[in-house]
Amino acid sequence: MLKKILKVAIDTPLDTTFDYRWNATSTESALPHVGQFVRLPFGRREVTGLILDVLDSSDVEESKLRNVIELRQQITPLAPEWIALCQFAADYYHRPLGEVALPGVPKHLRDAKTASIDRTLKKIRTQAAAPATAEPAPALNDDQRAAVDAIAGTRGFATHLLHGVTGSGKTEVYLNAAQAVLAQAGSSGQRAQILLLVPEINLTPQLEHHVRARFPQLNIATLHSQLSEGERLRHWLSAHEGYADIVLGTRLAVLASLPHLKLIVIDEEHDPSYKQQEGLRYSARDLAVWRARQLNIPIVLGSATPSIESWHHAGSGRYRKLSLTQRAVAHAALPRIGLIDMERNKAPDGLSPPLISALRDRLAHGEQSLLFLNRRGYAPVMHCDACGWISNCRRCTAFMVLHKPERRLRCHHCSLELRVPVSCPTCGNVDLQPLGRGTQRVEEYLQILFPDARVLRIDADSTRRKGSAQQAFDAVHRGDVDILLGTQMVAKGHDFQRLTLVGVINPDTALFSQDYRAGERLFAQLMQVAGRAGRAAMQQDRHSEVLLQTRYPQHPLYRALLAHDYAGFAETTLEERRSAGMPPFIYQALLRAEAKTLGAALEFLQSARNLLPHDGISINEPVPMTITRVAGAERAQLLLESASRAQLQAFLKPWMQSLRALKTRLRWSLEVDPVDI
Ligand code: ADP
Ligand code: ZN
Ligand code: ZN
Repeated sequence: MLKKILKVAIDTPLDTTFDYRWNATSTESALPHVGQFVRLPFGRREVTGLILDVLDSSDVEESKLRNVIELRQQITPLAPEWIALCQFAADYYHRPLGEVALPGVPKHLRDAKTASIDRTLKKIRTQAAAPATAEPAPALNDDQRAAVDAIAGTRGFATHLLHGVTGSGKTEVYLNAAQAVLAQAGSSGQRAQILLLVPEINLTPQLEHHVRARFPQLNIATLHSQLSEGERLRHWLSAHEGYADIVLGTRLAVLASLPHLKLIVIDEEHDPSYKQQEGLRYSARDLAVWRARQLNIPIVLGSATPSIESWHHAGSGRYRKLSLTQRAVAHAALPRIGLIDMERNKAPDGLSPPLISALRDRLAHGEQSLLFLNRRGYAPVMHCDACGWISNCRRCTAFMVLHKPERRLRCHHCSLELRVPVSCPTCGNVDLQPLGRGTQRVEEYLQILFPDARVLRIDADSTRRKGSAQQAFDAVHRGDVDILLGTQMVAKGHDFQRLTLVGVINPDTALFSQDYRAGERLFAQLMQVAGRAGRAAMQQDRHSEVLLQTRYPQHPLYRALLAHDYAGFAETTLEERRSAGMPPFIYQALLRAEAKTLGAALEFLQSARNLLPHDGISINEPVPMTITRVAGAERAQLLLESASRAQLQAFLKPWMQSLRALKTRLRWSLEVDPVDI
């Protein structure tokens, strides 16, 4: 009987591969292959492993080797390039390969019985695109044409930074570049697949609609976290087996298996959502660039407000810059931006008189308005005037947020929920006051102010039900909404046609954040939300407008915003980073620890700091995190910095091994290229 040893990766925190014995049986026709999945006994469980190597012998003692339960042979093995991508991510972010490669693979593929995989495969093979005529494409303007030609004319690897002002028609560039790349491959008898990433799940339907309307003959697959397991299996397999021509998705799609990948597009490349904030803390954008280089294909990073590091690379010539300087639609213009000085304008309910009269003007003309307030709930905190009680979360160093319609106090950090107390828990005072304001409170005020207006709030609370966010955005697009109010969910990407006013309610808090990236993030967010206004052609006597309520109208960030001057803002920011020695001029990693006491967390980090010699790496003193306690755990962090990425990586590898060898009970994790410090 034929015997083989399979070296496999398993989704477990143990940073090693595992050997198993495979015996040929009559039911299995072929030998196992690298890149196939196997069902395995692991401890007392049965798990799925990915075959990394097929060998004739093992270093593991014969008696300790266990047998493979089942080999999955009906799907094409994962390609070596895909395994190499996962291996790179595992090495770079210092996680076990199994934790990178397996979680992204559909659950049904890992667990389901052979029959259901066969059924799905059959469905994919026989699936024919619906016959339909393609929606006509607008004639590209010169900027767009130049961008498409540059991308489609690329031979081999290149990163294109597509800097296009909001409404400049970046989507058209992506679609035309995709079409050109598919056509080029087709004319030389090759297959091609295109990967298109968007930062938010709510932006996938809009893009999917455009792609399907333009390319009704193509197979489109989507990958994001809200698919059912059945859908996920179908879409993943469609990409993996090479049926999907275009794959649309959120950050997790960067790890999709795409055997014929020829072009990658990252829309809104600056968006923080491309960074995964737990588990494997990867940057989908950075992995995508690596993947394009590995496959020797072009990649497009698009944004109206590129990340500072991408702008830096464009400046140094590492990325190729393509610019779209004007709005694509004729007679659509960038909105006028105005500041409302809140030292002079009183706004007891959050909206200043100039903003209210601008809203009134839009209502009178049947135009839509958007109010942006990046704080959900009714009020960020409740307070007792009599004794000073305040709604602290008992498990976190944070306030419990008042959610009035739900009559709940909720902690946004640990999800603790309490009924709103009828009286003060300390002194019994029945007159508890909400302090500050969130979207629910502004919604309430808008209804009083404009009783006949159709007000719609969109935030994480109003869109909990599956599909409800889509319904809400559809209502806005249909024109069933006069005033749209929301958090960052409404700020990005959407191509609203009837919106002519954007009001920004309280952006100032981010000006004074500890985080060195806060300014960059605020500027991008404001420019993006401003960019939702005036996207369609307007009559001559009307114009679109953005009004920003601030106490700091002289702040340089706002001055740059008024002038729509992204480049100026980016250059100033780069200069500041250069002189302060911050990324992208240096490289960072962050070790975080959680313990029952802050002392224990700090002590662990202090010992980590002294574990190994670290020439060329500076390791700062451990410090408590800004929100120190979350869900009862005290948290601290240790920042590592180096002028050399390679040097930092070379240090991290043995350091992580030493840290794992400590086998501490306390929870810790490493983040490479951290974005929140
Ligand atoms: P961006 O992503 O750059 O903010 P979009 O891709 O959403 O912009 O395009 C903005 C609007 O411009 C869309 O309504 C789109 O249909 C339109 N558009 C794009 N290119 C052209 C063009 N060449 N001619 C006319 N309209 C265009
Ligand atoms: Zn009280
Ligand atoms: Zn809490």
